[in-house]
Amino acid sequence: MSAAVDSAVYRPAEFHRFEAGGRQFVYLVPSAGVFELNEVSGRILDLLAAAPHSAEMLAERLPQYAPRDVFEALEELYQSHAIQTPEGFHEPPQQPPPQFPLQSLVLNLTNQCNLSCQYCYEFGEDKIATPDGKPKFMDWETATQAVDYFFRDSAGRRSLHITFFGGETLMNFPLLKRVVEYARNKAAGEGRSLDFSLTTNATLLTPQIIQFLSENQIGVTVSIDGPKEMNDALRVFSTGKGSYDIIAPKVKQLLAEHKTRPIAARVTLTAQVADVLKIFRHLTEELGFQEVGFAPVTTSSKALYSIGPSGLDRVLEQFRELALEYRDWALAGRHHAFSNVSDTIAEIHQGVSKSHPCGAGLGLVGVGPSGDISPCHRFVDSDPHTLGHVSHGMDRDKQADFLTRGHIHSKYDCHSCWARPVCAGGCHHEAFVRYGDTGHPNLHYCDWIRGWTDLCLQIYGEIAVRNPEFLAHFDRRKTLQ
Ligand code: SF4
Ligand code: SF4
Repeated sequence: MSAAVDSAVYRPAEFHRFEAGGRQFVYLVPSAGVFELNEVSGRILDLLAAAPHSAEMLAERLPQYAPRDVFEALEELYQSHAIQTPEGFHEPPQQPPPQFPLQSLVLNLTNQCNLSCQYCYEFGEDKIATPDGKPKFMDWETATQAVDYFFRDSAGRRSLHITFFGGETLMNFPLLKRVVEYARNKAAGEGRSLDFSLTTNATLLTPQIIQFLSENQIGVTVSIDGPKEMNDALRVFSTGKGSYDIIAPKVKQLLAEHKTRPIAARVTLTAQVADVLKIFRHLTEELGFQEVGFAPVTTSSKALYSIGPSGLDRVLEQFRELALEYRDWALAGRHHAFSNVSDTIAEIHQGVSKSHPCGAGLGLVGVGPSGDISPCHRFVDSDPHTLGHVSHGMDRDKQADFLTRGHIHSKYDCHSCWARPVCAGGCHHEAFVRYGDTGHPNLHYCDWIRGWTDLCLQIYGEIAVRNPEFLAHFDRRKTLQ
């Protein structure tokens, strides 16, 4: 034992204890490390949970272990910050780093869409965009200015990412093609790597577009809500006609012919569409998606399609069933398509402890058809949230204000929550829609977030014990989505 801790009195620090694969772990907060407990360290934590103890008192209370083993376990717990002295650790508060280089650019090529999905945040009752008088489609000059701005403000990064978004992204496919060529040449000239992805409703896919996406290794996420009766509940054309019959054959063709990147489905769960297992089986087994991610609709609780607390409980039950299937597959070394688990496990594995819930306004920005810069694609065309313009770059004061509001230190309700390294208060956009402030924690989701994080910790721990090689897959997984 070190002299510095020899005579001190110890108490538990901040952690979440869990069991996995028959072993005991703690998830350390705020460092976000996962620490496996041996028998003696587990007993020490039991005793400290009841009352503070000194090292000598612990050795006396644990006569079944040699004092040296108790002191060693205590030292390990102290060094990993699972326990602390009354003085605490005095960790300096993290601040938003000044001039953090960008890593991802989301280009909203158009704010127009050929569908009228009733829950859409761009057009529904929670719309925050103010597109009147602004261009509906991005033009070439704005697109090249946006790429040039992105390359300038990402100085120092070797690998970059551009995502194309809409409205419906493919309504401006000619511009997308030109941007890919322009940005790729620019990256090659600067010796940097650049990859692309897009999100689409799949209605406008053609064999030529699919060929282009495959040849250029462009990752594709398709917004789709499951089998026909579920997808067509809310994903409709302006006539009210469902979109499933149009997109299903196109999606099958995309999956058959685009083999250079995994193709993902993104499902929006609503009060009407929440049968997670049925949706997952359809999208993977009948259509053939390699990744499926689910997100509950992010609207005000008043909306008819908003999922209430009991609906969320049912969703979490189904998530649990699917997540345990993911675990079983992982233990057998197989890939499972439930990407919500992969995303959370990647963050746990990498020890991510977030100052902010996501990269919005930090490593990631959205650019709208007008060239306005926003924290992310969901704030595009919303004047109060504009952070600058691609012609002159980011307004650093506005960026600092957005990041300070969204920083975990500004969210007092989160300060005693063990899930904050992963959650950090949740989506800024949803916070604005629900509470009128991008920096407000999404407190309507806390039980859900903690339940989900606890489940993923158990799965992570069990994989770490029984098939640790599987976790190598997450070493380099991207964290900015
Ligand atoms: S929003 Fe809720 S779950 Fe998330 S960090 Fe804050 S208190 Fe925890
Ligand atoms: S989590 Fe919310 S704020 Fe962050 S990038 Fe996604 S939509 Fe934007």
